[in-house]
Amino acid sequence: MLPIARYSALRAIRLLSTTLPRSSSLPILRLLSTLAVLEQIDGKLNSGSLCAVTAGRKLGGSVTGFVAGSNVKVVAEQAAKGKGMEKVVMVDNGAYDKGLAENFAPLLVENIKKGGYTHVIASHSAFGKSLLPRVAALLDVQQISDVMSIQSEDTFVRPIYAGNAILTVQSTDPIKILTVRTTSFPVSEASDSKTASIEEGTDPKAPSPTEWISEDLATSDRPELATAGRVVSGGRGLKSKEEFDKLIPPLADALGAAIGASRAAVDSGFADNSLQVGQTGKNVAPQLYLCAGISGAIQHLAGMKDSKVIAAINKDADAPILQVADVGLVGDLFKAVPELTEKLKKG
Ligand SMILES: Cc1cc2nc3c(=O)[nH]c(=O)nc-3n(C[C@H](O)[C@H](O)[C@H](O)COP(=O)(O)OP(=O)(O)OC[C@H]3O[C@@H](n4cnc5c(N)ncnc54)[C@H](O)[C@@H]3O)c2cc1C
Repeated sequence: MLPIARYSALRAIRLLSTTLPRSSSLPILRLLSTLAVLEQIDGKLNSGSLCAVTAGRKLGGSVTGFVAGSNVKVVAEQAAKGKGMEKVVMVDNGAYDKGLAENFAPLLVENIKKGGYTHVIASHSAFGKSLLPRVAALLDVQQISDVMSIQSEDTFVRPIYAGNAILTVQSTDPIKILTVRTTSFPVSEASDSKTASIEEGTDPKAPSPTEWISEDLATSDRPELATAGRVVSGGRGLKSKEEFDKLIPPLADALGAAIGASRAAVDSGFADNSLQVGQTGKNVAPQLYLCAGISGAIQHLAGMKDSKVIAAINKDADAPILQVADVGLVGDLFKAVPELTEKLKKG
């Protein structure tokens, strides 16, 4: 059952708000309540997922965090210190450790119904993208993906056509299910002086037809690509994996940057799949995005065009990347990249 009564009340108060002076809008905001779905990896809170809390705070109203997994109390306590968090709901069950959407979705739906939330938000990560469409289907509402900005409690801005057009969408659904772009809702470093309360959630113990077998994770001492302040990316222009490995890591080291790659570079085996930037890869918005041998196809731009400074090295003066770059160098990357690396090392 959807919380219809609550929705009707919300609608009635929204109608009332048009006749009330602005200062009277506070009680209306209090009725909004967001469930921010948080991620944990091996008993540690994935701080990137706190972007859901930032988005919830933008909406106004209360924000409740949700975590599930084995021995999840530690994660819940960590989340409870987060800025703007009113409550954390936790479900302690190892069946949810790997975040499989098949049993996580019914779990979430039960807890959404119990809490009567008006908004459910998760990061636009692999976990959020896999989970929330199922949750939306189970609740018979539309999901709104990759939200870049929140205009009001029912109006959201999101990219379409690989970021080539920006859509403003208004939802009349009683519960809004959103995944939000991590780079658009940065996580606040500060924590609240008061700690949020922690409460046990409902566990329907739904069976999962999918079994988690194993994972093969690429490990690196470098900054995490999605959250790094600087990113050095290489494309097909590097010609081979040997050249990619010879040129890109030393430049990234000289800048203390994470390494990224275009899909063509990944598909050609120059770089690991986890390094792909773009529509079907990661979204990044670092202070500096420096790329070499990348043409700037729209699907690549979709993942990095929010970077503060874009610098590009390309031998083709007409390459689309140079139209969005703040700094461009038209030249041969095999000459320019080693020179730049040497200068940075000396500097
Ligand atoms: C549904 C879909 C999703 C996609 N998702 C993504 C995605 O997430 N990320 C992504 O990146 N792509 C994605 N793509 C692919 C995208 O369309 C492009 O094919 C890809 O980005 C091209 O990669 P690239 O720029 O490395 O290669 P190219 O387009 O081949 O560009 C290579 C560039 O290197 C330059 N160059 C060559 N030699 C040198 C040299 N010696 N010195 C300097 N410059 C040189 C060339 O001038 C050229 O501009 C997607 C495509 C589709 C259809």
